[in-house]
Amino acid sequence: MVHTLLEDLKEQQIQLIAVSKRKPEADILEFYHMGHRAFGENRVQELVDKQESLPKDIEWHMIGHLQTNKVKYIAPFVHLIHSFDSIRLIKEVNKQGERLGQVIPGLLQFKIAEEDSKYGFAQEEAIAFLDSADFQNLKFVEVHGVMGMATFTDDEAQVRGEFKRLKHIFDTLKATHFSGKPYFKEVSMGMSGDYNIAIAEGSTMVRIGSLLFGPR
Ligand SMILES: *Cc1c(COP(=O)(O)O)cnc(C)c1O
Repeated sequence: MVHTLLEDLKEQQIQLIAVSKRKPEADILEFYHMGHRAFGENRVQELVDKQESLPKDIEWHMIGHLQTNKVKYIAPFVHLIHSFDSIRLIKEVNKQGERLGQVIPGLLQFKIAEEDSKYGFAQEEAIAFLDSADFQNLKFVEVHGVMGMATFTDDEAQVRGEFKRLKHIFDTLKATHFSGKPYFKEVSMGMSGDYNIAIAEGSTMVRIGSLLFGPR
């Protein structure tokens, strides 16, 4: 079942971020030994602890809300921050990148769900920021695409509509702000319950936890 999922995604060239939050290191190693390298966590302390004790060629993805005062702990090793959800955070990531002398990649997180989620940009807000000199002066962050979470509902049409919106935001930004920037290419959407819909709507990267590791 898990093998089939890994093969399916590989065949479709969809990147799989195995969401290992709240799961022990032994579970991560099981996937590691099958050849899997990309894992996602949503708490800084847990991410740092796991990074320290697990193999160094694991690609760690930060997928949850990131407090600005904690960026410094993950900046040296994080592979991709999926959750650029405020201007303040992006500026802090830039500051830590500058300190380390390395460019840190991230995805703009958009609020696409109908339910009241606290985090993520509105489209107009992100565009205003991308237009600003403030953004253009940030040399140590690189925006690699977009991320979003659909409403937690059985209503497939609603989920599909929300993913469509995120893909549309991606296409728009690609044309208006990132044309000629080949690194702007990721649409991170889809979790255990909705990844098939997300892929049909243009996801390049799915974040799957419970389907791989069992319920938390
Ligand atoms: C926990 C989490 C996931 C994975 O959720 P599952 O339903 O277990 O697949 C994906 N994305 C984010 C942002 C998460 O916090």
